[in-house]
Amino acid sequence: MLRGYLDSVARQAEKATETRRSAGGESPLVVVSNRLPFTVTRSAQGLERRPSPGGLVSALDPVLRKRGGTWIGWAGLELREGERIPADHDEYRIAGVPLSDAEIQRYYHGFSNRTLWPLCHSLPALARYDRRDWLAYERVNQRFADVTVAQGDGSAVVWIQDYHLMLAPERIRMGAPDTRLTFFFHIPFPPYDIFRLCPWDRELLQGLLACDLVGFHVEGYAQNFLDCAERRLGARVDRKNRLVEYGDLTSQVGVFPIGIEFDAYEDAARKASDPGRRPRERVVLGVDRLDYTKGIPNRIGAFERLLELHPEHRENVTFLQLAVPSRSQVAEYRELKREIDELVGRVNGRFASASWSPIRYLYRSVPRDRLAAMYRDADVALVTPLRDGMNLVAKEYVACQVGEPGVLILSRLAGAAETMREALFVNPYDVEETAEAIHRALTMDAEERASRMAALRRRERRDDVEAWVQSFLEAAAESHESLQPVTEDEVEGWLAGYIRDYRLVLFLDYDGTLTPLRGHPSEALLSPEMRKALERCAERDDTEVAIVSGRSIGDIQKIVGHPELIYAGNHGLEIEGPGVEHFRHDDLVHYRERAESLVEQLSEVEERGAWTEAKGPTLTFHVRAVPEKLRPEILDRARRIMAGAGYQPRDAHAALEARPPIGWDKGRAVLHILRDRFGPSWSEKVRVIYVGDDETDEDAFRFLAGLSLTFRVGSAETLTAATRRLPNVAAVRALLEWIAGRRSPDR
Ligand code: UDP
Repeated sequence: MLRGYLDSVARQAEKATETRRSAGGESPLVVVSNRLPFTVTRSAQGLERRPSPGGLVSALDPVLRKRGGTWIGWAGLELREGERIPADHDEYRIAGVPLSDAEIQRYYHGFSNRTLWPLCHSLPALARYDRRDWLAYERVNQRFADVTVAQGDGSAVVWIQDYHLMLAPERIRMGAPDTRLTFFFHIPFPPYDIFRLCPWDRELLQGLLACDLVGFHVEGYAQNFLDCAERRLGARVDRKNRLVEYGDLTSQVGVFPIGIEFDAYEDAARKASDPGRRPRERVVLGVDRLDYTKGIPNRIGAFERLLELHPEHRENVTFLQLAVPSRSQVAEYRELKREIDELVGRVNGRFASASWSPIRYLYRSVPRDRLAAMYRDADVALVTPLRDGMNLVAKEYVACQVGEPGVLILSRLAGAAETMREALFVNPYDVEETAEAIHRALTMDAEERASRMAALRRRERRDDVEAWVQSFLEAAAESHESLQPVTEDEVEGWLAGYIRDYRLVLFLDYDGTLTPLRGHPSEALLSPEMRKALERCAERDDTEVAIVSGRSIGDIQKIVGHPELIYAGNHGLEIEGPGVEHFRHDDLVHYRERAESLVEQLSEVEERGAWTEAKGPTLTFHVRAVPEKLRPEILDRARRIMAGAGYQPRDAHAALEARPPIGWDKGRAVLHILRDRFGPSWSEKVRVIYVGDDETDEDAFRFLAGLSLTFRVGSAETLTAATRRLPNVAAVRALLEWIAGRRSPDR
């Protein structure tokens, strides 16, 4: 079903692309979010669209109309066979992503809201980790990516929204490599120590690092993300310019605090009727989705404490809490609802009189004009989340303060606290401090209230949601810088503490590590500078160099041509060099003849430039010269032939390796060399560094984990088991140059 759907999306997209180019020359915008800007509902009359309220929709809608483009998202219900999203007079394209109820359960209520939500809000005790939820999250992200790629508009800026879609950038990048990909993360990004609790943290980070630009609300979240990328993925990070280099990709990380539709709220507050408040009643207001991140129980506790500490407020002040029902499918939310009901009952039971109840609690949502009046008439807004990406309620309250100015009490743990400096700040976990802040707000003189509120309003009017969209899209249009090339100083930071005064054994892959990959292996030659660096390393008494290659041993010895090095060919099946016993894996003899016949069999798929490199007992089938579209089919046939001949086919860069299934790989070869050369207690005598660029080097990275420092060069397409990533061959040279020139230990 999805296939047919994607084809039809692609056909539509093709037709529409031309007509939708914006007149102003700006590239079209593709917005990808969990939900479309409307919700589809089913009634007896059929399907209907209801617009989704919210600042993001109102801010993006005019941009999409002006620039042209597409909004991609879920419609809000599972469409039945033959049903389509009802058409409207859309001025830009709408592409629905079909999701089943079961997928919504696991991807949305499950992984997004039971795993990522609590984790990102630094409430890890509430996070649940269920592999089935994760698999659904992966599947659904892939589907969002498929629909995005099927739009087929290479010139568009793609802007993905929020934590539901962290894997989508990487999947889109695979399908459409040249897309300008951007992402905004609307919730907090937690510190490394919390994010790494997630069993799939690396995949999520890697998903985002396919973007050109990743935006967060505040500097702290951006720095947390950079920290995670560096420490969990071994990415290179420039904290000052907020750049992350992940293999061969560089992402710009930016800070864009979101705003609200200030004018619309202000206007609504001016127009809303007066609900007729009782004389003398002063109101402390809380407005939240009913969510455990909002700290509603703590807030009730603080109000109770206020009444204990300052009895003069009894009978005079009411705490009005509006809690909008939310995520009631998730057990933690139902539990919270029960807890709040009980707390409200307890406090009211304790303090209420015949004519006054301390807490008025509304569990429902209210229309915007009513809400604006509530904001306008509240003497104090009590905005005390335990953690919040930004918190729009704080901003809406400020926008609605069109009469006698009130006071904003704001949690230090909300993103909004970074910019709304004139609020009264509290730690929401500190009941006493919050109670005293309410008292201070209720007794603040008019001059101070006016000064604080005027400054808050000025900023929010200027930095509204439209300004936010503009600043993000401006940054999205700029091409970001690259990181400084790797320097010897940087290498020193990675290696000096590790090597100390040990001998060093340096294992190096050849193709893609010491030379860039070329069309044909015979063209991949060492540059004179690289040769020099290699020689200088090998000359040192305290350093051994081993080349570990997929090439045949004769070939690699010839092409490197340095007699003092150790060589391991055929992925370590053959080893030679000074100080190591000549090694041929015992089973090799059985594979020489088989390999010859496999070479013959593969000749039938040597089409369109594909060719076979015979390497004695193994071989490599190369498709670099084959047009990319034809590669999968040719590789598939080659894979089947290899498997049929009793070999293990293994993906490599534009090639397929045929390896004998004898449980031997580059990792085992490295260990063999170390034990042979330095004895079983080698790890007491030497330090080990391994540098490689390929899937076959991953065997060594995994094998050597904890036993050495490992570096993966180039492509960031797949996760690596290596300690760090290096962008290219030039970075490997810097590494060798530092090793060659490092200070000898004073023994
Ligand atoms: N809100 C609403 N219905 C209501 C009360 C509030 O839709 O009855 C809105 C409120 O205006 C605000 C949003 O819910 O825009 C809450 O945003 P916030 O950033 O404070 O928290 P979030 O719900 O995004 O975690």
